[in-house]
Amino acid sequence: MTEATGIVGEFLSLKAETDADVLAMQCGDFYEFFDEDAELVAEELDLTISQKSSHGSSYPMAGVPLDDLTPYLKALVERGYRVAVADQYETADGHAREITRIVTPGTLVETGADDAQYLAAVVSDGSGSDERYGVAFADVTTGQFFVSGLDGADATAELVTELYKFDPVEVLPGPTVRTDDVLLDRIRERTDATLTLHAADAFAPGRARHTVREQFGEETVDAVGIADDEGAIRAAGAVLSYVEETGQGALAAVTRLQQYGSGDHVDLDATTQRNLELTETMHGGTDGSLFATIDHTVTSAGGRLLKEWLQRPRRSRTELERRQSAVAALTEAAMAREELREILDGGYDLERLASRAASGSADAGDLLRVQGTLDLLPQAADLVAETPRLADSPLASVIEQPDRETGASLAAELDEALVEDPPSTVTQGGLFRLGYDEELDELIERHEAAKEWIATLDDREKREHGITHLQVDRNKTDGYYIQVGKSETDKVPDEYEPIKTLKNSERYTIPELEEREREILRLEEQRGDLEYELFGELRERVAAHAELLQDVGRALAELDALASLAAHAVRNDWARPELAESRELDVRQGRHPVVEQTTEFVPNDLRMDDDRRFLIVTGPNMSGKSTYMRQAALITLLAQVGSFVPADAARVGLVDGIYTRVGALDELAQGRSTFMVEMQELSNILHSASDDSLVILDEVGRGTATYDGISIAWAATEYIVNEIRSRTLFATHYHELTTLGDELPSVENVHVAADETDGDVTFLRTVRDGPTDRSYGVHVADLAGVPEPVVDRSRDVLDRLREDEAIEVRGSGGSEGGDTTQVVFDLDSGQFKGDEQTSGETRVATDGSPNQATSEDDDPRLDPATEAVLDELRDVDVNETPPVELLAKVQEWQAELDGE
Ligand code: ADP
Repeated sequence: MTEATGIVGEFLSLKAETDADVLAMQCGDFYEFFDEDAELVAEELDLTISQKSSHGSSYPMAGVPLDDLTPYLKALVERGYRVAVADQYETADGHAREITRIVTPGTLVETGADDAQYLAAVVSDGSGSDERYGVAFADVTTGQFFVSGLDGADATAELVTELYKFDPVEVLPGPTVRTDDVLLDRIRERTDATLTLHAADAFAPGRARHTVREQFGEETVDAVGIADDEGAIRAAGAVLSYVEETGQGALAAVTRLQQYGSGDHVDLDATTQRNLELTETMHGGTDGSLFATIDHTVTSAGGRLLKEWLQRPRRSRTELERRQSAVAALTEAAMAREELREILDGGYDLERLASRAASGSADAGDLLRVQGTLDLLPQAADLVAETPRLADSPLASVIEQPDRETGASLAAELDEALVEDPPSTVTQGGLFRLGYDEELDELIERHEAAKEWIATLDDREKREHGITHLQVDRNKTDGYYIQVGKSETDKVPDEYEPIKTLKNSERYTIPELEEREREILRLEEQRGDLEYELFGELRERVAAHAELLQDVGRALAELDALASLAAHAVRNDWARPELAESRELDVRQGRHPVVEQTTEFVPNDLRMDDDRRFLIVTGPNMSGKSTYMRQAALITLLAQVGSFVPADAARVGLVDGIYTRVGALDELAQGRSTFMVEMQELSNILHSASDDSLVILDEVGRGTATYDGISIAWAATEYIVNEIRSRTLFATHYHELTTLGDELPSVENVHVAADETDGDVTFLRTVRDGPTDRSYGVHVADLAGVPEPVVDRSRDVLDRLREDEAIEVRGSGGSEGGDTTQVVFDLDSGQFKGDEQTSGETRVATDGSPNQATSEDDDPRLDPATEAVLDELRDVDVNETPPVELLAKVQEWQAELDGE
């Protein structure tokens, strides 16, 4: 194939200049895509494809009109593509084209989505256990900019957690991160971000530091405390230079450098966020998440902030009490709350508008939306001032925070400048009110007068020449014309110059009309130019106030989020929790915030303190153990968001972290063994949790053989109780573990009660002190619709097993190799028999059955065959096993027990 020349050749050579995925090149009134790019956009955006021949070759081509590019850009970028835009400009000998900007997922200003849109950079140095990271997150649509350095043993896990939390749409891996396949895989696992290779020298410490200082000023960099953190600075510099390089002007809105990650936030690792279904459910949807349940915000900025609060709960008592008091005031002042929400409902996303103004993409409608939204703050202020219960609440200071005077004068300026319903193009005039600019007024006056002259021309002509079918109109080809019906053309005066003959009429022009037309065109152009210039200046003045707009936007968002928390609290009868310094969690009649929405919920108490730090939760399958434990975690989390909680009353000792591990369904899909994942999660908890943390363990050790599992669960329990001392709820199927309640101080048993009468089991959903003795697995099998013969036979088998044997469990009561405690779990009674002996010997219940150990000196364990059957029976998941398979298994077990 010969090399392409002409327009296609120009396209291909521009394309070769950029590393963007797609190029849109201006050709007159269109942006065109050629070759592979045409095929790609045709497929992604449903554009029609045509062929462009160029010097004997033919190339696919697709195009969009100049003014329609934005929605197509948005669609491409939202699908993860990076799009270069080449614009055409005039030169002395015709025109030329060059790439003016690159639109990428992380730098798209004109986003339509409500969610935050983070661009991240990650740098690493150090190696092995001494890994250190710097990470920066910028949202060019709101101007948010966060930066942090991470080090220590868990740095990698923390990094992954941060990425999960911020959920960036685009990530710039630093030079060493690029070659770290393991880390890249983890980034891909936790985000859907596009990974972009940004110039390596942008990550260089010297250059990055310079960029960061230029953007935020040296003092800010010092004040935020990242000046000495090279990783953080490198990441921040890389993000800034990337935003600048893409050439969309969004950098101006990025004004606020914030450090995060240290001190004041509750640790919530990615696993926990998912387990607690904070913003999406385990199945990936958003419905049924905590956020979807409690979100009653009326603005997208309010929703974003509330979500951020849930993802980043606080530890600062002062801050939490401030939010609580505001929420409390809003719960009491019901009328004012609803009025406030109505006021906010009329607002637009000021943070986003500020970015659009800064990037020069805001139109007149956007600036009016800025004005309308700025006006809401004084309205909200009046309402708060007039409502005594609100006036002396922290709401007053939320409203005081932005510079309201400047806000009001900017709003007034916009109001005086712009007409009520301006056009969406900013180049054709019609944007400004009379009185805004003298020169413009004069142009407008002349323009209007000329238009008026034309508008009244038909009447004048009709009268003067006695023609009834006469009209004055305008179109693209003929310009202005006078149209006269065929029947009256004989009345037309000589000065009428014919320009076109139609079927039933004739079109004419006259010198005066031509002159006015030229005048109008000239004036229109002048007016368009002048208004465009004035508008540019106005937009720049708004952009210069980006920080103010962000402040006001933030304040309105905060009012919205607080009012939403209050509205939810009132509607669902939630209570204000008392925030305690002591390590306790005391909940009266607590409920699960999501489950209570759809279920007749049975409330439960929960009491944890230094003497009751570790609760072993037992109870039948499906009785409500997980719900009870998650409820504890969510109540703690909500308290540390500043929210009320679903309970009659609660005292919540502030925690530094919430850690959970529950059965992870989706990890299986990723091809990792569940047991491995389970152990990694456990390991992470045992490393990270402290005596100020809340730990939720929903089954540990289920993914392996029974004795293995019990041993791990047992040892982990001891470690948490003795070493970590966190408040812990641990649901287990291993009833063997309930004995730890007697063995270890601060460990207590609770169980979810079930009532069994005549073989029928009723779940009471009530949590009571003490262990339960059975797991009612067969009952659940029955509920699940397992065929009756199988259920009946399972009961037989279970009864026989119970009658038969006892399992001995040997648990270490202290440090490794220290004293051992002998505990015997007697299958017959379903009870542990105490440890009268502390030697290595064990008592066993004897009832003379054939497999029974017959002498105290013998190994008291079951024979291996029976043990294997028991293991299988315990492990079989009746919900997951098809009935036929279950039946076959039971037969197999019978055969094995019969010694076949
Ligand atoms: P487990 O962890 O014991 O297997 P779950 O916590 O998953 O049980 O709860 C099983 C079902 O019972 C869930 O559908 C849940 O909605 C319901 N449930 C749990 N606790 C309660 C409660 N206190 N009141 C009403 N329904 C509950």
